[in-house]
Amino acid sequence: MRDTAARTSDEKIVVVKIGSSTLVDEHGQVRRDYFAALARQVRAVREAGWSPIIVSSGAIACGLPLMGLAKRPSDMPSLQAAASVGQNVLAAAYAESFAPLGIVTSQVLLTRHDTARRSAYLHARDALLALVSYRVVPVVNENDTTSVEQIRFGDNDTLSALVSCLVKADLSVIFSDVDGLYTANPATDPTARKIDSVDRIDEAMLASAGGAGSSVGTGGMITKLKAARVLMTAGIPLVICSGAEPDALPRIVAGKPVGTRFAGRAPRHEITNYKLWIALGDAAKGALSVDDGARAALVDGGKSLLCVGVTGAHGAFEAGDIVDIKDAHGHVFARGKVSASFDEVELARGHSSAQMASNRLLAPLAEKPLVHRDELVVFD
Ligand code: GLU
Repeated sequence: MRDTAARTSDEKIVVVKIGSSTLVDEHGQVRRDYFAALARQVRAVREAGWSPIIVSSGAIACGLPLMGLAKRPSDMPSLQAAASVGQNVLAAAYAESFAPLGIVTSQVLLTRHDTARRSAYLHARDALLALVSYRVVPVVNENDTTSVEQIRFGDNDTLSALVSCLVKADLSVIFSDVDGLYTANPATDPTARKIDSVDRIDEAMLASAGGAGSSVGTGGMITKLKAARVLMTAGIPLVICSGAEPDALPRIVAGKPVGTRFAGRAPRHEITNYKLWIALGDAAKGALSVDDGARAALVDGGKSLLCVGVTGAHGAFEAGDIVDIKDAHGHVFARGKVSASFDEVELARGHSSAQMASNRLLAPLAEKPLVHRDELVVFD
């Protein structure tokens, strides 16, 4: 029988991202037992008052054997074709596994296009919330078949952070092939230990996750940490744990210690939807390096970025593009919408507003901050 009880407004939303290797075996076959266990976990958390949204990988992995491919091709059209074939298989596996428990699933395929424009972002949010209100479990993936390089999210860790922010989730979970964040690579370092909770993602953590053969031994930890950084800024807690851990989801929503928990800080500065769109919805076209004074003004003072604090510009960005903002150590601590082009910033950087105002060429740039505080997301 279908579970049609209306979602009550005090129900919380949990976004669960599941990686390919958890869902699909090494031969490209869906792990039917896993899907059945997942359906039971979803039922359990619904009974506990949570509405789950699943962000599912696995389309490309499922498609390969049906196309007679033994391994992942490297050219984009073949990958797009594999995703097209495999997404069908994936959607059917969810529908067939969840239906016996009375749970309806749906398929939502997103590209960066669907979120880069604010109106499209809001439409995607409304559709997801409508599905949840009808007690449907949306299964979201990137629309790999039509996402060409420029409009790709590229990885579902980023996509799941975006979906979590979009629906203002109460909790985000990443089911991975590792059981959390480690102090070092547990495969090679016997002293490595799992970190149970993280309050702040620092530069050292990002560097260790990104370095070759470091961290937990998967190339994927860096994208998870970047997703965690945005979620923490948005005040959404994140748990990264092994997808193979039995009953992980009901235990996580019950607050039991599972994997690594990244605390959702009370946002220090107001994080509007628009700011989240800047943080996740569009790719950075370049970067600005700033001095310590500018960093303090942004992080501690909640101020806008002025040209005087900028020490360098990188990348061919135009006015209105999204850029990363780096401190003197090269650590990206913020992201925002820049009001001048690369060429203009190169001319104006290091100049005070008064100096700019008295310079015929730079005067128009003195009228507004380089990155306005309303269009700026500070991660630290
Ligand atoms: N969208 C890809 C797929 O379904 C997976 C991307 C990822 O796991 O990060 O195959």
